[in-house]
Amino acid sequence: MADPATNADWFARAQEVIPGGVDSPVRSFSSVGGTPYTVMRGEGPYVVDVEGTRYIDLVQSYGAVLLGHAHPVVTSAITRAAALGTTFGAPTPGEVLLAEAICERVPGCVQVRLVSSGTEAAMSAVRLARGITGRERVVKFDGCYHGHSDGLLAGGGSGVAMLGLPGSVGVPRGAVAETAVLPYNAVPELDDKVACVIVEPVAANMNLVAPGPDFLTGLRAACDAAGALLIFDEVITGFRIGSGGATAWSGVTPDLWCFGKVIGGGLPVGALGGNRELLASLAPEGPVYQAGTLSGNPLATAAGLAVLTEVTDDDYFELGTRVASFAGRLSSAIAEGGLAVVAPVVGPLVGLFLAPPLGETASSNMGLAAPVDYVSAHEFAANGVYPRFFHAMLRRGVALAPGAYEVMFPGLAHSGDVLDRVVAAAGESAAEVAQQLAVAQG
Ligand SMILES: *Cc1c(COP(=O)(O)O)cnc(C)c1O
Repeated sequence: MADPATNADWFARAQEVIPGGVDSPVRSFSSVGGTPYTVMRGEGPYVVDVEGTRYIDLVQSYGAVLLGHAHPVVTSAITRAAALGTTFGAPTPGEVLLAEAICERVPGCVQVRLVSSGTEAAMSAVRLARGITGRERVVKFDGCYHGHSDGLLAGGGSGVAMLGLPGSVGVPRGAVAETAVLPYNAVPELDDKVACVIVEPVAANMNLVAPGPDFLTGLRAACDAAGALLIFDEVITGFRIGSGGATAWSGVTPDLWCFGKVIGGGLPVGALGGNRELLASLAPEGPVYQAGTLSGNPLATAAGLAVLTEVTDDDYFELGTRVASFAGRLSSAIAEGGLAVVAPVVGPLVGLFLAPPLGETASSNMGLAAPVDYVSAHEFAANGVYPRFFHAMLRRGVALAPGAYEVMFPGLAHSGDVLDRVVAAAGESAAEVAQQLAVAQG
């Protein structure tokens, strides 16, 4: 059979053999409507689909790609590693080099255990915290995502403290019975049942919600007082908002870290980190079991190490400056186009909260406050503006994530010129959507 040429053909074929046509639900267009573009290749800030259409890509594998697609330093590192054999079931130098690179850069992180995904890192960090403390309760925050393991798939949909409500069919009540879900940006009182508090130090899975000035220090103090461990899930923030991640950025040092995404350079890697004493509880030294056939895989460690050594502190600084300017111009362009907008920025992470025009003073977005928790983030996500904006941008050659809870991931390949084109497309798209909304109302 000849390969079909169109996105629609590929997606139809995918749906025959892959549930929903996607291997991760965030890739589907179910929340924005329409047919996903099927990517044939990427180059720097762009992806090219099977029809040959090129998009400026702000998805960047949901933050796994920092240098841009198919960066020559990364592809040659992978090629060199592949020629030596792809997996052995014995220690390799690449694991040591990547672990050293991570620990050198993150203040307080002395050891890491490499795994193959962010999900595994968070799942293992929680198991380790429970094993160390001998306690069972886990505190997480509504709207934070820590992968899809049973015990962490709880929460969402309510700002009220909840205990034991599974976030998916198929998760037994027992698996989340000891998972408490609390509102982000409110420091909870902890008792002596709590093994750990796991948090995205900058929340980037409910669009972008920054921690308030006292949130992370408050969590640190509350954990210390209760004898609980503090876990920073830095799967997105790690090596993206700076070489020291949210730890250096906030000055708050957790007990355990979860890493993923950037540290794999686009290949599957996660890591769980901490000091020597805490990590000594992991098998084989300690009683907490954790394992993986492909953990510390040579291709993945080579790719991750290539990224971590390529990016300098100057690069992070320059990227942050470029992105701050971009976010300001982006929100001005959208507001001038007639939509209400808030575009919060943390380092190179940009959020995008859209709303219908605010009445007569539509060009002013003065009235909108940046969301501080899931409840306020959800109000924006539920207003129906994002799907229209998403498609208007896609028609203009800019690929945003197909869901209102995602952030934008401009990286080192997104030059000022590329970001200017995003701003121009956003202004036009906002005007188009404002027009659609006026017609729909009128
Ligand atoms: C993506 C993500 C995860 C899960 O990582 P996977 O590699 O998709 O399993 C965990 N935590 C956070 C904060 C993430 O953004």
